[in-house]
Amino acid sequence: MQFTNLNLIPQILNAIKVKGYTTPTPIQAQAIPVLLQGRDLMGCAQTGTGKTAAFAIPILQRLQKEKESGRWSRDIKALIITPTRELAIQIDESFTDYGQGLGFRHTVIFGGVKQFSQVRKLRSGIDILVATPGRLLDLINQKIVNLQNLKFFVLDEADRMLDMGFVHDVKKIISKLPPKRQSLFFSATMPPSITGLAETLLTNPACIKVTPTASTAETVTQHMYLVDKKDKRSLLTHILQDPTVITSALVFTRTKHGADKIARFINESGIRADAIHSNKSQNARQNILKKFKNKETRVLVATDIAARGIDIDELSHVINFEIPNEPETYVHRIGRTGRAKKSGIALSFCDKDEQGFVRDIHKLISQIIPVIEEHPYHTNHSGSRSEKTQTERIKQGNKRKHGQQIQRNKRTQKNQTSRKNKRPWQGRKRR
Ligand code: AMP
Repeated sequence: MQFTNLNLIPQILNAIKVKGYTTPTPIQAQAIPVLLQGRDLMGCAQTGTGKTAAFAIPILQRLQKEKESGRWSRDIKALIITPTRELAIQIDESFTDYGQGLGFRHTVIFGGVKQFSQVRKLRSGIDILVATPGRLLDLINQKIVNLQNLKFFVLDEADRMLDMGFVHDVKKIISKLPPKRQSLFFSATMPPSITGLAETLLTNPACIKVTPTASTAETVTQHMYLVDKKDKRSLLTHILQDPTVITSALVFTRTKHGADKIARFINESGIRADAIHSNKSQNARQNILKKFKNKETRVLVATDIAARGIDIDELSHVINFEIPNEPETYVHRIGRTGRAKKSGIALSFCDKDEQGFVRDIHKLISQIIPVIEEHPYHTNHSGSRSEKTQTERIKQGNKRKHGQQIQRNKRTQKNQTSRKNKRPWQGRKRR
């Protein structure tokens, strides 16, 4: 499948070419045709699967067709809501990329900053609006945003919206949408609360699921370090020493204070690091992220604010300095690397108290993360025999698989030899 098979208009094909994409990702290949037909969509897709282009491209194309048909006024025709400011900015940038040469006006609105410049842009006339729920609702209530002529509505990262407590805002926004519209609903996971919300929004949707709900990206190699809590910082700087191995690392911590402390410690050891979390101002967060994306900073220490949706080109490593207590968070964190078919590495530091969280992760991802023992801070977590046993089990499992493969190879060889020795009619007779 090529983009040229998707009935896309030349301007969009050209924008895709400029981006350097050759083939559509699975969600793009499946979603673009149904969305171009005007159907609603329920998409269960992991982050990093290319879902932004999967919805942005058909919206742009359908808007372009409408513009060419002459029915055109400058009001909001497409609305995308997403839970975090960073993600909103990123989606807006994608509309710039994919909509090159189409001349649509789009902008992004989010809270945490003064509304003045956002309002000015909105008043100048906007075709496509990307927003976080709180600021959007605020501006709707102030009658600055009018959604009367909306044609396309995208609810992105729906499960995250619910986790972050945006469900009431989202429902209020939905209640203000005109009934005749095309709606798209994306979520990485589909628990019953999410499917319930989707049912209120969608009409006879096409359902697309590109990877199992709890799968980790296949392109990410995962490793576990067993380490005492007190040694975690030293292990981190030990691992980060060689810039040719770890070209960029996103380090996750549980608390904002912890993120600041670790970033300070890394800097003191001579490695350039920044911290990002919700206590920093929006401008500071954007600057920090920009420096990290531009590779001016090699290490970014983050709380889970950065765990979802943030797209960092060529992020080589994700490091879980602390194991998340929700296994789904692990999947989302490590999904920051290995994006768009590039390979990535996820390293997790497990201390004695975190072994239960690791077991939950193993259960969720249906695999056991191999332990790296060759480093100065390895510990067995005395009493952590279950981990050890799990590792042994993998080794045994691998051995068994290896043995089975040898048997299979032997059988194939034997079959090939006996086929060679067979008379031609023997083969024909069997058919
Ligand atoms: P998303 O899941 O939309 O955040 O996309 C993840 C990353 O994949 C972004 O860096 C996109 O630029 C990239 N991407 C999206 N579609 C394609 C494609 N068809 N080929 C290569 N990269 C892509």
